[in-house]
Amino acid sequence: MNELAESLAARIAAEGPMRLDHWMAACNAHYYATRDPLGRDFTTAPEVSQLFGEMIGGWIGDLWQRAIDHNPLLLKPVTLVELGPGRGTLLADALRVLARLSGFTSQCRLALVETSPVLRAAQARALAGWAPSWHDSPDTLPRDTPLLIIANEFFDALPIRQFLGHGLERAVGHGPQGFAATTLPTPETEPHERCEAAEAMVTALAARLQAQGGAALVIDYGATEAPINTLQALRGGQPADPYADPGEADLTAHVDFARLADVAVPLTVHGPVPQGRFLAALGIHSRAAALSRGKPSDIAASINAGLARLTAPAQMGALFKAMALTAPGWPIPAGFDQ
Ligand code: SAH
Repeated sequence: MNELAESLAARIAAEGPMRLDHWMAACNAHYYATRDPLGRDFTTAPEVSQLFGEMIGGWIGDLWQRAIDHNPLLLKPVTLVELGPGRGTLLADALRVLARLSGFTSQCRLALVETSPVLRAAQARALAGWAPSWHDSPDTLPRDTPLLIIANEFFDALPIRQFLGHGLERAVGHGPQGFAATTLPTPETEPHERCEAAEAMVTALAARLQAQGGAALVIDYGATEAPINTLQALRGGQPADPYADPGEADLTAHVDFARLADVAVPLTVHGPVPQGRFLAALGIHSRAAALSRGKPSDIAASINAGLARLTAPAQMGALFKAMALTAPGWPIPAGFDQ
């Protein structure tokens, strides 16, 4: 038993079964704090191919450029924020593109919302030269500039509650056989999932964007219909039991885009659109062709495999979605205008 398992077992012995969101929050905090899981337990779009971060860089640059063309008063410092930046790969690839945009880098400060010390160290290495600031939560983000916020596979790691119908919600108990799923009573009668942490964060960010200007781009996995029973544990790239070994597997759940759009008032919501369509609109196919040109066939093949993984509907192209939120007066972001 790891230290977390011992403390969770003691807590359940003292207080009874734990609500699933409390369990998931404790497990994921330990999991991310103690390792860099990327490429081992799971892989994310920026780790699949540099094309992903480059497209996001183009998206940010285009939006910023059109915002200042429209309103030159916005030509002042802007804070580029990433929520849960992992190894910092997405921003490193995006900033390579943004560095070519005249005026952007001199105006841009980087702010990273990240709780894991292991991943903060990886981000510092990937973004050396950019002097990012780190934040435990969005509360301490700068208040004096517009915010351009990116979140890729961040919201899926936030803790969910699962309502099972019949007045029960998912909980976790502990007995001689170890941890196991159980239930607690709830007044909720309909089966559904709810991520209160994601709702609270989007509500807070929407207030900031409304006051400070800017936009947020959320990319994550989730179906169009409201999520039910989507909790998933991954360990070593394989599905695992979410209750077996607390803090040793990656726990995620589908993101409820419709719910997040509802709490983002008074911002304008764009999408969600399938990731494959979003990246195609940003020009990923021609960028992949340019990157492959003149390359040995094995390198060209791996660029194309990365492209397919990001965009093909059977891979990440359809289940993953992109949704943007913009402050009043900000332009419609690229990828959402058709
Ligand atoms: N965006 C990255 C990593 C995704 S993994 C990528 O696409 O590769 C999830 C990231 O969110 C990790 O960096 C993890 O440490 C961070 N994270 C998870 N829960 C968090 C929380 N409650 N607050 C801040 N960061 C969190």
